[in-house]
Amino acid sequence: MRHRVVLAVGSNLGDRLGTLQGCVQAIGGLPDTDVLATSPVYETAPVGGPAQPDYLNAVLIAATGLRPLDLLAATQRIEAESGRVRAERFGPRTLDIDIISFAEEVSDDPVLTLPHPRAHKRAFVLAPWHDIDPGAILPGRGPVAGLLAGLDRGGVRRRPDLVLGAATSGAQTPEARTPEARTPKAQTPKAETP
Ligand code: ADP
Ligand code: MG
Repeated sequence: MRHRVVLAVGSNLGDRLGTLQGCVQAIGGLPDTDVLATSPVYETAPVGGPAQPDYLNAVLIAATGLRPLDLLAATQRIEAESGRVRAERFGPRTLDIDIISFAEEVSDDPVLTLPHPRAHKRAFVLAPWHDIDPGAILPGRGPVAGLLAGLDRGGVRRRPDLVLGAATSGAQTPEARTPEARTPKAQTPKAETP
């Protein structure tokens, strides 16, 4: 049986958009898993932690036959493969994948807390989620629209010039990561250098 999962992805080092696009592809390539929707991209000032670059954030909705802990292991492997180095908590990272919700599951297990324990306070999670599912409910917390209305959205800016494509089937090709694939509008993409 497949379950609906909501994943929040973020990057604030290196080729941020390329990393997020590679992540969409990697999630879509997991066994018995499809990416159903990718949100608009937001640029977000970091909250807490050391001084660090701004993040690009987005939300993915997927359907998966994986069990929750197997999905967590898979997302942590994708993080590691993106070159993420766990230097310090809340510090900069090439890729962070948080499991925001897994079907209706509620768990306070610190290894996998569901829903994600800080999701209800994070506009950079709720805003992109609301964009692709205006009727979304955060299990145990209520409608995303209502939660979002109570949050300060300062520091969370939509980047309409940056677009995540859907996961394509088959092996990831270099072309899937070219600037042209990222920005349908013929704009000069902003350099995403470290
Ligand atoms: P953070 O995202 O909080 O900055 P990490 O990505 O390093 O930090 O995650 C730290 C730990 O959080 C992981 O080892 C993981 O086991 C745990 N964790 C608990 N709940 C979740 C969740 N819903 N999604 C992702 N990781 C989670
Ligand atoms: Mg994380």
